[in-house]
Amino acid sequence: MKAEIIAVGSELLTPFRTDTNSLYLTAELNQVGIEVVHKAIVGDGPDEMRSSFQHALDRAEVVLSCGGLGPTDDDRTRGTVAQLLGRKLIRDEATYRKIQERFRRFNRAMPEINARQALVIEGADVLPNPRGTAPGQWIEARGRILILLPGVPNEMRGLMELEVKPRLARLGVKQRLYSRDLRIVGLFESEVDQRVMPLYAEYSDTETTILATAGGIQLHPRIWSADPAYAQARLDELVRRISLVLGENLISMNGEMIEEIVARLLTENRATIAVAESCTGGLLAEKLTSISGSSAYFLGGVVCYSNELKTNLVGVPPELIAAKGAVSSEVALALAEGIRKRTGATIGVGVTGIAGPTGGTPEKPVGLVHIGIANEHGAREKSFRFPGDRERIRFFASQNALDAVRRHFLFPQRNQ
Ligand code: ATP
Ligand code: MG
Repeated sequence: MKAEIIAVGSELLTPFRTDTNSLYLTAELNQVGIEVVHKAIVGDGPDEMRSSFQHALDRAEVVLSCGGLGPTDDDRTRGTVAQLLGRKLIRDEATYRKIQERFRRFNRAMPEINARQALVIEGADVLPNPRGTAPGQWIEARGRILILLPGVPNEMRGLMELEVKPRLARLGVKQRLYSRDLRIVGLFESEVDQRVMPLYAEYSDTETTILATAGGIQLHPRIWSADPAYAQARLDELVRRISLVLGENLISMNGEMIEEIVARLLTENRATIAVAESCTGGLLAEKLTSISGSSAYFLGGVVCYSNELKTNLVGVPPELIAAKGAVSSEVALALAEGIRKRTGATIGVGVTGIAGPTGGTPEKPVGLVHIGIANEHGAREKSFRFPGDRERIRFFASQNALDAVRRHFLFPQRNQ
């Protein structure tokens, strides 16, 4: 069963308001087995609104709108839809009395325009709205189901939960959406896409969305099916194939983030960690402490931007900085070892690099980052060249530093 959502409201076409209602509505529809195939955002103009509803009714079995049920002149959803369906608007007496009652309770006279909110489309089921004045409406017409909800987010949610979802559930849709949440580090979106793409054709009954977020790359394989066992088996198989092409870069198959994985590994190994950061300016410490309970393993960190602090607080020899430069493999190693020694942590991490946009040279370009990791047996270092602006470079650096910790535990024998 396919649905289209129409978000009504001229404010949603300005740079100042985002339509968030449809995200919520999509999640709720998916839960009862209904797939959203189109979304539209339309202003309060009757012509545009009419064409939106007309298109939606042409292509979806369920059309769900939100907004435009208010009392004022520019709230035109009711009138427009009634006209489109060739039905009359009639006053719903129960709703009318409820609106009167609401005003009486607040000791105010009911303005005549509010009566408009009691108008419903002929033949509609009225969906009482306990959180506001305008009720929702459920209309069956032309073999379609048309649901009108208010735009105010908490009213819309209340109606969806109390009235709409139970009715949709009664339609007996067997199909459900099954999905997985894969997390990837150390690859760019295009690289992930390139490796996974050939699988899409083989698993054409599934659909995989790729998402580059602040937390890294996510892959969400999804399948609609009325057969849970088939759906799970199909996803299992696809995920296995994906994990073969992504290898160690696939860090989790259940939505676990790198911060959480590192937290788990440190805890399981009864290890502690301390960090010495230059170009990430504390971002690594921020990520480590974003997990509740991190005090059990995170001892702390130093943001040592200047050479003096690298020496005074972390013990990096000034001669080493003079000889190799502050951005070098050697200094990354010295930062990792130095912070480990000074704090007594099991693991020390050092990050130094050039976040740009200034400060790059041909030998040491913007985006060059060295990450060192040390334990009691010694230290290792890995160099990276990250693309993008300052923010992205710093983000990649902190992400890959966490990944160095993950790899340290999962693949200890490997030369990283
Ligand atoms: P109603 O149908 O309840 O009368 P309305 O369209 O008349 O809704 P508005 O005054 O336009 O109500 O909107 C009420 C509030 O809800 C505003 O803050 C508006 O930005 C917000 N809102 C409306 N539609 C959406 C949406 N699709 N996503 C997020 N917020 C929305
Ligand atoms: Mg509106």
